[in-house]
Amino acid sequence: MDTKKQLYIETYGCQMNFADSEIVASILSDNYAICNDIQQADVILINTCSIRENAEQKVLKRLVELNALYRKHSSIKIGLIGCMAARFEKELIKKSLVDIVAGPDAYRSLALLLEDSYQQATNTILSTIETYDDILPLRFDSNGISAFISIMRGCNNFCSYCVVPYTRGRERSRNPKTIIEEVKKLLDKGFKEVTLLGQNVNSYEWDEHIDFPDLMDQVASVDKSLRIRFATSHPKDLSDKLLQVMAAHPNICKSIHLPAQSGSNAILKRMNRKYTREWYLQRIDAIRHYMPEAGISTDIIAGFCGETEQDHQDTLSLMQMVAYDFAFMFKYSERSGTHASKTLTDDVPDHIKTRRLEEIITLQQQLSHNSNLSDLGKSFEVLIEGTSKRSPDFYFGRNSQNKVIVFPKLHYNIGDYVNVKVESCTTATLLGSIQA
Ligand code: SF4
Repeated sequence: MDTKKQLYIETYGCQMNFADSEIVASILSDNYAICNDIQQADVILINTCSIRENAEQKVLKRLVELNALYRKHSSIKIGLIGCMAARFEKELIKKSLVDIVAGPDAYRSLALLLEDSYQQATNTILSTIETYDDILPLRFDSNGISAFISIMRGCNNFCSYCVVPYTRGRERSRNPKTIIEEVKKLLDKGFKEVTLLGQNVNSYEWDEHIDFPDLMDQVASVDKSLRIRFATSHPKDLSDKLLQVMAAHPNICKSIHLPAQSGSNAILKRMNRKYTREWYLQRIDAIRHYMPEAGISTDIIAGFCGETEQDHQDTLSLMQMVAYDFAFMFKYSERSGTHASKTLTDDVPDHIKTRRLEEIITLQQQLSHNSNLSDLGKSFEVLIEGTSKRSPDFYFGRNSQNKVIVFPKLHYNIGDYVNVKVESCTTATLLGSIQA
């Protein structure tokens, strides 16, 4: 009989957090089995994100709700893990909203923190060496086709608006041998695609002689049928060497997420992004030079400190010049503890931030639609990832450029590669049919 306790993990935020939840599940797997029904849980862990204020507010609301629903009448334990850990440790423990708190580098201590003898326990110490490289993630919420692999942790860039260097600590890279071993194990289990993850993958470095392009080359050479993606690149570090490796391997997807954040040099300087608009556009030219067919996406922040109407127009013109396929777009929200919160004034009124964000979103919708229209009549190799939400008779998958394509199932299976001809599109999705 299984005597393991039941563990329910709820994850918020970026792909790194979802990858971390799989590491946590693996670390606790000797004593805890993952359950999908929160009502059955002995322990609920909330893996949290601090990138924007509303992400934190959502989690704080959820903790109040979970306490009201479950904690008052049972011995259930609630834990907060991830980026909010250090920022909210004292407040949440004082209010007794959680029993344990563990930061992103403290997951190996979770079993100890959860011991019955402790009423409340925390560990939010950041490490300079922890990469969890010996932990094989437990893929408990996986489609069996695509997997995330963390290759590095932390960030040294200190963009002035960002909390990540404070919540996740300094950069450290994982031993490439353990990355390759994990890739091989995923292949053995039938996975078809891996996404290499890091806050800034281009900073990956092992023993001073293996950089990120070298690692990509090694991973792509494991098996030609395995698709490789990565996230996220910092424009200042996007090297020609990486683009050459991407171009040389057909199984490395021709898709780059390159967060611009702004098109204005004055704002980029205030953001401490360490590149200029001209440098960024020159990197876009390099991508197009090596991989004319590449898909390019970005992140844009509207209304950063001191942003003028001209700065905003510069962002719109950069978007037009690059013609992004896709973008994540946000209003600036000040995060306590960051350089911007200490030295700059959040002085763009909210209604102006909202209007600028709407203009950015409207432009991106046009750009995405134009990009999709230009794919009409083309055929793409697509990895089938699952059944479309639109209809049980349709699959969805992505092409190399990271665009979602929906098409009739015919006799194919999830995990198959198929050639799909694009016949129509919306702003967000391509629609097509499988070519024999
Ligand atoms: S590169 Fe900048 S935005 Fe990205 S995680 Fe590091 S500090 Fe944050």
